[in-house]
This record gives sequence, C-alpha cells and structure tokens, in this order.
Amino acid sequence: MKIKGFQGTSLLDFPGRIASLIFFGGCNLTCPFCHNPTLVLDPDQYPDYPLPSILQELEQRRTFIDGVVISGGEPTLDPECINLIRAIKAMGLLVKLDTNGLRPDRIERMLTEGLIDYLAFDLKTAPARYGELHTAPVDLNALQRSITLVMGSSIDYEFRSTCVPGLVEPADIDAMGEAISGAKRWALQQFVPGHALDDTLREHPPHDASILQDYASSARRYAGEVILRGV
Ligand code: SF4
Repeated sequence: MKIKGFQGTSLLDFPGRIASLIFFGGCNLTCPFCHNPTLVLDPDQYPDYPLPSILQELEQRRTFIDGVVISGGEPTLDPECINLIRAIKAMGLLVKLDTNGLRPDRIERMLTEGLIDYLAFDLKTAPARYGELHTAPVDLNALQRSITLVMGSSIDYEFRSTCVPGLVEPADIDAMGEAISGAKRWALQQFVPGHALDDTLREHPPHDASILQDYASSARRYAGEVILRGV
C-alpha cells in the first residue's frame, strides 16, 4: 500500500466534518496544475506509512474526528485502498474519497459495499480535452462510467473543478456541465499557481474573480448547487 502522507486533523477537506487526511502516492494523470507534484511524479521519495500505524493513529484521534479523507495522488489506483477504507469504516468513522474518476471498477466496488460517505470527483476540463492532462491516452469511457455511477448512487457527492486559465474556459464549463448535467453539486475552485506540476504555470495568474462568478452562473444551468471556492 502506497500511503505517503498522513495529517491528523483538518477542518477544510470534509464538508462540515473534522477529519484526518491520508495521501496515496502515484496517479494516472499528470495534470499541469497539480498541487501535489512530488506525490504524483516521485512518490517513492516518501516512506510508506504501514497500515497498523495509520490505524493506531486514527484510533488515538477517534474521539475528536468525524471521519477520514482518502486523497492523493489517485487513491483508487492502489488495490489495497479498499481494505484501508473497510478498516476505517469498521472503526465507525466516515469516509470521504477524493478521486479523478478514472477507475470506475474500484469506485463501483466501494459504492456497492457502502464504504463511501462523501465523494469529491475532480472534473478537470472538457472531456474532449483530457488528452492535455497526460502523456498517455485517457480513457474517457471510464470517466463517463464513473460519472454515471456516482450520480446514480445515493451518497453525497460533489464534482470539483479547478478553474485553470487555458484549461477551463467558458466553452469548457459548458462541456463539463453537459457531461454532469443534473448533478447534485459542482464546486468551482480558484487556481493557486504556486506549486503547479508544470513550472510554466507557476507564474500564471489565476482567472479574475469576476470570471469565476460568470462560470458559476453558467454552471447553475447544469448542477443543483454551485459552490465557488477560493474567490
Ligand atoms: S491533480 Fe489529481 S488527478 Fe491530476 S495529477 Fe494531481 S493528483 Fe493526479
């Protein structure tokens, strides 16, 4: 299991909850705006957290956390991720999964077993532009299958898009909106250039706040609730 990071307590990452955060190394994308580039490009520079020590730390926090955020990297790539989540659920804690949605088989299994309480699904740009997020082809059927699975499930969820200039422009908002039309919630996030994987983006100014407001207006045509973050 490639658990590469653990944060004891966060108020920000699980809506309305106090949570611990677990970070898996590795990813099946290399998004130019990724803010965890070392976790994606060189996860082996970090030691692995052994499962027993993670569970022990969670047990010590059991009385003051509500749940655990499983993040990365892309956590669903690790076949052991589901065992970790089963163990966390057995402790009576809630689980939020952060995912890019490209492993629908694993997401389906987690949903079928009732292991996920909240899912944050990163929708990066228009599906037709996903080739710009990686050096290898991206399986758009997998992306669409995960969208259908999550929207058809009974869990609480959000789609989440970081509005990177050049990658998220007005036409992309519409294309993403059409892909998730009828979604419960869509969070549009401001781009923070500082730690971007592609260093040419690090000096790139984010969209003006007024542009994100316009995006939110457009997004409301497709999702029941639209949240703006970071503006
Ligand atoms: S932003 Fe998410 S999906 Fe993209 S490379 Fe980073 S961890 Fe992977």
